[in-house]
Amino acid sequence: MPEGDAVLRTARRLDASLAGAPLAVADLRWGHVDGERLHCACTLAVVAVGKHLLHRLDNGLTLHTHLRMDGRWQTLPVSAVTPAQRRAPGLRALLATQTTAALGWHLGLVEIVRTRDEADVVGHLGPDLLGGDWNEALALSNLMSAPERPIAEALLDQRNLAGLGTIFTSEPLFMQQIHPWTRVGALPADRIRALVRRGQELLQVSMTYGHPCSTGHRREPMYVFGRKGRPCRRCGTTLRHITVGEPPRERVLTYCSRCQPEA
Ligand SMILES: [Zn+2]
Repeated sequence: MPEGDAVLRTARRLDASLAGAPLAVADLRWGHVDGERLHCACTLAVVAVGKHLLHRLDNGLTLHTHLRMDGRWQTLPVSAVTPAQRRAPGLRALLATQTTAALGWHLGLVEIVRTRDEADVVGHLGPDLLGGDWNEALALSNLMSAPERPIAEALLDQRNLAGLGTIFTSEPLFMQQIHPWTRVGALPADRIRALVRRGQELLQVSMTYGHPCSTGHRREPMYVFGRKGRPCRRCGTTLRHITVGEPPRERVLTYCSRCQPEA
């Protein structure tokens, strides 16, 4: 699932491609969402809030999309869009100015809201780790408000703080040697703060370099994420999967049972 860094990169790319020009095409293939409402409107800005994309137009409307598990936005010159791409079943949105097209593939959510009502769709989110108005004290207070919750589940809950997915949760937990199921209330505040700061640093590194990197090594960038069944880089123990959260929102993290012992 794309995390805060990937969504912010996507927002910047869409903004650079579409802002300042009217939409000549606004074809939304999502239920009864009517793309015609966006036709001819000029893009003011495309911004990311947590993992949500808000595409603001000068007619008072915002196109709200979410990438969920597999979504992505592709940008390319209008002349390069092929008939096969236009007909593809995975295409959920096709936006285009006179020169540039944006193709939304496998998006997990597409809706139009009034710009002044954006809070209805993103107002539930906690402070955004990559946002200009990041508020660490509020994020920590949100996290610590449910002391019985497993720390991994609390970090992944976008209502506490927005932007962390499984990469930027599992890597800081390994680096801080904390088991994903450790209760929030069993951790001192400074360790929770260290986890959040580590997650934020990794997101910022990813924004700078264009890909996540915890280890500092480009070829082997992850300590645990995506490495189930392989040896721990620190102790050699075979890394395992663990499930956190309740269905249908459960997530699978990779961890080292020796470096991150259950408390
Ligand atoms: Zn280990």
